Amino acid sequence: MEIRTRFAPSPTGYLHVGGVRTALFSFLYARRHGGKFILRIEDTDLERSERIFEDQLLDDLKWLGLNWDEGPDTDGSYGPYRQSDRLEVYRKFANKLVEEGKAYEVYAEPDDIGKLREEILAKSQAPHYTREMLEKLSTEKIDEYKMSGKKPAIYFSMPRKDWILNDLVKGDVNFTEDSTGDFAIMRSSGLPTYNFAVVVDDALMKITHVIRGDDHLSNTVKQMALYESFGFPLPAFAHLSTILGPDRTRLSKRHGSTSVGEYRKRGFLPEALVNYLALLGWSHPEQKEMMSIEEMEKLFDLDRVSKNPAVYDEKKLTWMNGRYIREVSDERLYETSKPFIVPKMFSEEEYVSNKKWIIQSIKSLKTELEELSQLSEKMEIFFVKPEVDHDLFVTVEKSGVIQAYKILIDLYESIDDWNVEKITEVTKKAVKDSKIKASDFYHPLRKILTGKESGPDLVEFIFLIGRENTIARLRKFLEG
Ligand code: GLU
Repeated sequence: MEIRTRFAPSPTGYLHVGGVRTALFSFLYARRHGGKFILRIEDTDLERSERIFEDQLLDDLKWLGLNWDEGPDTDGSYGPYRQSDRLEVYRKFANKLVEEGKAYEVYAEPDDIGKLREEILAKSQAPHYTREMLEKLSTEKIDEYKMSGKKPAIYFSMPRKDWILNDLVKGDVNFTEDSTGDFAIMRSSGLPTYNFAVVVDDALMKITHVIRGDDHLSNTVKQMALYESFGFPLPAFAHLSTILGPDRTRLSKRHGSTSVGEYRKRGFLPEALVNYLALLGWSHPEQKEMMSIEEMEKLFDLDRVSKNPAVYDEKKLTWMNGRYIREVSDERLYETSKPFIVPKMFSEEEYVSNKKWIIQSIKSLKTELEELSQLSEKMEIFFVKPEVDHDLFVTVEKSGVIQAYKILIDLYESIDDWNVEKITEVTKKAVKDSKIKASDFYHPLRKILTGKESGPDLVEFIFLIGRENTIARLRKFLEG
């Protein structure tokens, strides 16, 4: 049997890290088992769904490398893959249930159903409707309702029995008979409810494994009942535990960036995000932490997915991003850095004509970078002349290093070919010839040239700012 998983987002907002984790686990499970990963857009909440969110969602998923085999923008034998394009299908299946006596029409205004709900709640009962309750409501107003030309809603007759879900992550989950009453499957607007559309689609799209957040666990009993009523084979379910913030409350905006878009803007690499999110609930068999998506595709399985909530630690993600930044190729570094420094620091043309210099300067800053959005600020050291530090001048004067810096200027002026090897050589010579301690020489030199206590490799920095700038910065300092 071919394994088929799906990610079924509602385009009512930007893609959230929790959504990515769900998509990633579904993707990895399909890849691991040589199956198919399907993207289905669940946009039947017409008021809250927006095309811009859908477009962004597709773009974010592609950026992350979570490529789908079938989806709204691809061909596939089970389409369309956008629920708003499938309304006829839902109607047909709802009618089938009505014809078989497994669902029934309800001629009641949502307000009246709301009142009924309040009455039930006031009696401290769970707000579960039954056919009898809903019919009693509608007999009074049924004609009025019909005259108005409105379509009835359709409710499903929930079979009265206990249910057991064998969840691949949570284990056995029991639902008692009274945990759910009859529920709407079609609204009078002609739109299906989530629980109904999801079952029709998962069944018709031959989904074998439904992997999603455990906030849907209580819906699953309704879905199981629908599968049974249709005689559709039940897929396997895997409900992923909630992601918590460091304070152990449900992860939300209060905890920092939570949307993929924000991380993209901050200069995170997709592989860092994917790697970090994979570890939110799953672990490598040898507890390895840094791994590529290809490696995960070979190893991922649901038996290593924990049922305990995962705690989101942005610091760790940021650290991981720094590690990935250090590993990327020059070409990729150049491409991905571009939006962070063009046009802020370089024009398009400058970015092209100074490619070599730009790559080298970014590389010299790599160890300090955790997000590419820090680039423009970090790169300022190449362009902004540091203020002369007078206290430092006094110290340097006392230690007799002034003479060494004068020698250094002469040596720098004498270099024919300005390159890292040559600069290293003559800088060492200046230390040696002036017979002073290397630390007395180098530490202030960094401060003089960069204005900072730490930063990129000093010789590389000197090479990158060039001879003229180096000598000018030194001379200015020596003037005191
Ligand atoms: N559209 C639902 C959501 O975004 C899908 C849930 C499911 O995977 O069944 O929560």
